[in-house]
Amino acid sequence: MLELSKVYHYYGQARALEEINLTIEEGSLVAVIGPNGAGKSTLLRVISGLEEPDRGKITFLGKRIDGLKAHKIAKMGISHCPERRRLFYDMTVFENLKLGGKVLKSREVFKKQLDFVYELFPRLKERKKQRSGTLSGGEQQMLALGRAIMPNPKLLLLDEPSLGLAPKIKTKIFDAIRLIKNEGTTTLLVEQDAVLAMNAAEYIHVLEEGKIEMRGTKEELEKEPRVKKVYLGI
Ligand code: ATP
Repeated sequence: MLELSKVYHYYGQARALEEINLTIEEGSLVAVIGPNGAGKSTLLRVISGLEEPDRGKITFLGKRIDGLKAHKIAKMGISHCPERRRLFYDMTVFENLKLGGKVLKSREVFKKQLDFVYELFPRLKERKKQRSGTLSGGEQQMLALGRAIMPNPKLLLLDEPSLGLAPKIKTKIFDAIRLIKNEGTTTLLVEQDAVLAMNAAEYIHVLEEGKIEMRGTKEELEKEPRVKKVYLGI
């Protein structure tokens, strides 16, 4: 579904991504783990068109998307749930979700997606008229995720969905991510919480200083001494 080939990105002279090769199969849940500043957000930003990669090629469903504007890429079916949620805090829960679904042409599909979001997170339904700025951190993450799946994307990009959340809420969010994937949405998530990400994903890439240093399934990576020490603390 998605293929990155020799992708580089720089901020001024500083290299944020170096020779990234990455393939995502349709229907899969893939994670990229790595420390602060490794380039995880940048990776998602070059895919969704918020940054134009300096070199390399990105194809989505057989079409070249590097260099396209973000709104064009969104229309092709890629939805980006950014770090720190970036909700419209003065707007209600429902208004945020409505914005997420504004690309949908049919009322029926809109209703179907809204029902799916409310089923996933009943708390959002209860609070649909509440201003999103007054929600708890966990509820705001639910809303950000809900807003990102409103357009019924083919590919969902999730930036640090567990950031700043209590362990119980993190588990809830990751349960929802698995459900979304099981409904057929291909998902790429970047995450600092390696344990959570490795438990959820079918395939994991380890990004360090802009480079993919290791990749494999959870079982494969768990055998790597470096992953054990740095990411799993064992
Ligand atoms: P975090 O988990 O802290 O968000 P990350 O893995 O997502 O980290 P990025 O945010 O992609 O990493 O940043 C990669 C590198 O690029 C870092 O060194 C960061 O300081 C730098 N960087 C990110 N955004 C910019 C920018 N707009 N201008 C200049 N440098 C940037």
